[in-house]
Amino acid sequence: MEKSNKGKKVLKICLKILIPVVAIFIIAAIVLQCCGFGPLFGLYEPKSDSHKYTDELEDYGIWDNTIDKQMPQTVVYKLVMDHFKAPLPEGKTAKKVIFLGFDGFRADAIANIKDDPKSAIMYVKSKGGLYHTFAGGVPGKSEQHTSTAPGWASMLTGGWSIFHGINNNGQNKNANETFLTTLAKQGHPASFTASWREHTALSYRPDIVRSIKENIPVTYTHCIDDMDTYYHVLDYVAKAKGEKKTPQEDPDVVFFTFEFTDHAGHLYGFGNNKNYYQGSLDANKFGYDIIKTIEARSTYAQEDWLIVISTDHGGTGHVHGGQSIMERSTWLAVNKKLNVNDSYLSFEND
Ligand SMILES: [Zn+2]
Repeated sequence: MEKSNKGKKVLKICLKILIPVVAIFIIAAIVLQCCGFGPLFGLYEPKSDSHKYTDELEDYGIWDNTIDKQMPQTVVYKLVMDHFKAPLPEGKTAKKVIFLGFDGFRADAIANIKDDPKSAIMYVKSKGGLYHTFAGGVPGKSEQHTSTAPGWASMLTGGWSIFHGINNNGQNKNANETFLTTLAKQGHPASFTASWREHTALSYRPDIVRSIKENIPVTYTHCIDDMDTYYHVLDYVAKAKGEKKTPQEDPDVVFFTFEFTDHAGHLYGFGNNKNYYQGSLDANKFGYDIIKTIEARSTYAQEDWLIVISTDHGGTGHVHGGQSIMERSTWLAVNKKLNVNDSYLSFEND
């Protein structure tokens, strides 16, 4: 009898402790999910939010294709190579391309700059178009992480990770060529400028070593931060009247990435907060300045420039890498109107 009373007492004490602990855990999980920390706990946004997200993107009314006609991010490679294959327009004597990469610039962050004609994205759209694209590969076929290294490699090589060998951050690229290497070998000096150390320390280290050993004119520069990247690129594209630059000081192919939005997203959350907003403004402001510097080149009238801006992935909460719509949805601005047909929708090197 005394034993069973003791048992009840223990049970009562346990319940007294357990119930508040479980309640606190449930409340904390709900609060963290609402604050965007869900993915850290494996609590991704429910499916219904995906529709809300794509509806919100469509509501901006700024896209030149519909979301069901999203192009794979690999299409960047096709745009660049097609540009160099096409004959020079009348009066032009040189082909040029610049690719502005805005790291982790979520598609809905375009809302932050869509009414600013002096933003890089909206300015480039006014010359051509702004298109829905996607990161993360083709589900069930070539799925890859919506991460930085696989994203840029897919744009640079035109294939998914099964083609370029980078399925996640922390991996070396294989021997399949980027458009930088291919065009440089064809006589178009190229440059790659970024402050994310992994680009030069890991992903493109095999390409850098090859460029050095085989004397391929691609210049890879690791910068301290985005401002350093900005000044480096400005130096590549500026050309004063009468200024003489060597081919490598004045590359035909300019590729760079800004980390403004990705850094803000990891620290403060991808989406609606003032730091992420500021990141999207900064990328656009400095990007716009670079484009205007190109237009002010003393040789601009004789040059045929392709200008492309895109992002490697979106984000959810403070992270990315998964397959949610917020992470997969990307975008592409280009200074030429595209006829988004099957050759764009299904393009991939394999
Ligand atoms: Zn990234």
